[in-house]
Amino acid sequence: MSAASPGTPAANVMIGLSMPEVDAWSPRVVTALGMNPGIFTGPGTNTYLIGTGRRRILLDTGQGAPAYLGVLERALARAGGAELQEIVLTHGHVDHIGGVHAVIEQFGPLRVSKLPDPKDHATGLSLIPLRDGDVVQTEGATLRAVFTPGHARDHLCFWLEEERALFSGDNVLGVGTTVIPSEGGDLLDYMASLAKLLASAPCRIYPAHGPCIEDGVSKLREYIEHREQREGQIVAALRAMGPALVPELVSRIYVDVPKVLHPAAAQSVASHLVKLEREGRAHRESSAKDEPAVASRWSLA
Ligand SMILES: [Zn+2]
Repeated sequence: MSAASPGTPAANVMIGLSMPEVDAWSPRVVTALGMNPGIFTGPGTNTYLIGTGRRRILLDTGQGAPAYLGVLERALARAGGAELQEIVLTHGHVDHIGGVHAVIEQFGPLRVSKLPDPKDHATGLSLIPLRDGDVVQTEGATLRAVFTPGHARDHLCFWLEEERALFSGDNVLGVGTTVIPSEGGDLLDYMASLAKLLASAPCRIYPAHGPCIEDGVSKLREYIEHREQREGQIVAALRAMGPALVPELVSRIYVDVPKVLHPAAAQSVASHLVKLEREGRAHRESSAKDEPAVASRWSLA
């Protein structure tokens, strides 16, 4: 997965972080690592077996890495010799949906559901629509879908009623912050999604990348504050520099971040600028039509 790949979480602080391939994080939550480590996926995607009975819900499927199927087998054994009931997806990015075909090939036909998106037809999968408020149940677990656009327009988080816990997908990560990709991402929506999740006051958060978050409320507050702080830095930089290109803003603001991660930082800065533009607080200097936000020259309104 390259740095230019859209929709992958920014995981600079996850480099070198290792996660167990299979683990039990609660009596009803067993993890199976997607085996797709990378600069943007960190140790790989966390997929989850959820429930307490013989048949478990599989939340996300990784990217389709060959080693994943063996890990999933071991996770099912760890879950007491369980079988798969169905697959539920947080969103359509490849590191979440990419393993569906291989899982079905191995385990037989399964119901697969997600929030519908125009891009779904390209997957060749027959997907069951899942929308905000819909409930997926199995023995010992009740999952309620929460529409949370921002990182992706088809993003759902899942509230686990029995634990007052949240499966956050890519909206909140175990370490680091989420990229708001130029394609399908929207920082204004993302901030609203974080506020919505904070209002539900989750205990734990089970993220799609990185370790379990024990204090969900603190993490959500930290995420919101981080974005507000970044926005303040961008506004201050534009005030000091006058009209500026995104890479110039990145060089000024991300002084402690390795250069290899600057393209991801540029996406993040661009997402802030688009948010400021939508709020009438910034505008693009250049007039070229359809110029991507990351290539524009920006100034304060
Ligand atoms: Zn994603």
